[in-house]
Amino acid sequence: MPYQTVNPFNNKLIKEYPTHDDQQVQQALATAHDLYKSEWAQGDIQPRLQVLHKLSELISARVDELAKIASEEMGKLIEQSRGEAKLCAAIAKYYAEHAEEFLKPTRYPTELGEAWVENAPIGVLVAVEPWNFPYYQLMRVLAPNLAAGNSILVKHASIVPHCAEVFEQLVTEAGAPKGAYTNLFISTDQVGNLIDDDRVQGVALTGSEKAGSIVAARAAGKLKKSTLELGGNDIFAVLDDCDLDKAVKAAAFARLNNCGQVCTGAKRFIVHEKVADQFLQGFTEQMKAAKLGDPLDPTTTLGPLSSAQALKDLEKQVNDAVKAGATLHLGGKKVENNPGNFYLPTILTNIKRDNPAYFQEFFGPVAQVYVVKDDDELVKLANDSNYGLGGALFTQDIERGKKLASRIETGMVYINSLTDTAPELPFGGIKRSGYGRELSDLGIKEFVNQKLVVVA
Ligand code: NAP
Repeated sequence: MPYQTVNPFNNKLIKEYPTHDDQQVQQALATAHDLYKSEWAQGDIQPRLQVLHKLSELISARVDELAKIASEEMGKLIEQSRGEAKLCAAIAKYYAEHAEEFLKPTRYPTELGEAWVENAPIGVLVAVEPWNFPYYQLMRVLAPNLAAGNSILVKHASIVPHCAEVFEQLVTEAGAPKGAYTNLFISTDQVGNLIDDDRVQGVALTGSEKAGSIVAARAAGKLKKSTLELGGNDIFAVLDDCDLDKAVKAAAFARLNNCGQVCTGAKRFIVHEKVADQFLQGFTEQMKAAKLGDPLDPTTTLGPLSSAQALKDLEKQVNDAVKAGATLHLGGKKVENNPGNFYLPTILTNIKRDNPAYFQEFFGPVAQVYVVKDDDELVKLANDSNYGLGGALFTQDIERGKKLASRIETGMVYINSLTDTAPELPFGGIKRSGYGRELSDLGIKEFVNQKLVVVA
């Protein structure tokens, strides 16, 4: 795939970026590895934390500029792009303030003597990242690993090279030495060759199941650790006792946020039969009310999909679902005679288990609505998925919500909120949504050597 910026609002090519050849990749790897062996990575953590403090300040000062770049490159609404930049600043600050505490040695009482586990960096990591949160995905890997002393080589998605470039510049400007964080415009074959190299010790991938399984298999072939943050088919459960008004508004936002291109976006709306008609009516009104338009226009509430290919894929998925028996309750087509990648807010109902849509993730503004008679049926349907990322439950009975949350097979469950993210909360899934965690204290422990030392 060429690395190109194409504005999804009008499909105009803005810029093509030159790729890195094998020699440049080798040079980047050698520099990253040398840095890992140096005082920067092996010594005092403070200089690394200072870089994160500075990075947080730089991002905070440039929120508007960063937001415009992301919105033009992948179609995110400008206010949401601003929010993403602010979240990145918060993640950098969070690790600047907490990493030392997370990485300090833990004592283990034992009869064998004085014992502790210290957390040492492991070396060069390869990160493969997607376009849907073009800065946040990078920051989730960068902040904890820079603090820990690992060097990072990044292959970002080929449709967001401008975001990739500007992020790397910010890290450099914040004072990170050469090799700490390197953006590479490389092919999937070059990613594979990097993973094979003995100097690379781990791989973090956020993206599709397909890319995840290829990259993780390559890493496993060389016995290297990987973390995978993959797709999701999250539920949004509407219980009969919930605040329906609140649930309806949250449901529409949870489905349309980032034009439906969120791994933890609500995709399967599971509604108790007592409130099903009322919910569907309110939800339909909210979805219909979306104002499609230019992501840079602050009054727009639904932007374009990220690429012409994404639009084509989504159209096919919906058509296939309807052919297989689903009812098209709302939308179901792209916006005709428009140069951008616009798809109408869509609601599918009557999706049976033998419909391919039942198990598929729809990465766009397409909601599936299911009606259930009780909590047991809800749990059964929720867990009848190959994915296990997040999920939301709306109820006024918090005890009921907690009981249900423990029965849902996902890495994250939110009660009375859509699935969200914050620097201090672990993020990740189970099943085919991947393994490992990013953010919080858990995220920083994924790629460190938890080394036991015993003094007898
Ligand atoms: P994708 O095709 O897997 O792309 C993600 C990244 O992987 C891109 O950098 C891509 O490069 C690269 N890639 C693809 N195939 C590869 C291979 N064989 N070897 C090495 N790298 C490879 O994902 P997408 O369809 O753009 O993104 C959407 C998916 O990501 C959805 O399923 C979504 O749910 C998931 N996602 C998950 C999370 C999470 O945290 N769990 C967050 C965001 C998105 P190119 O761009 O060059 O193809």
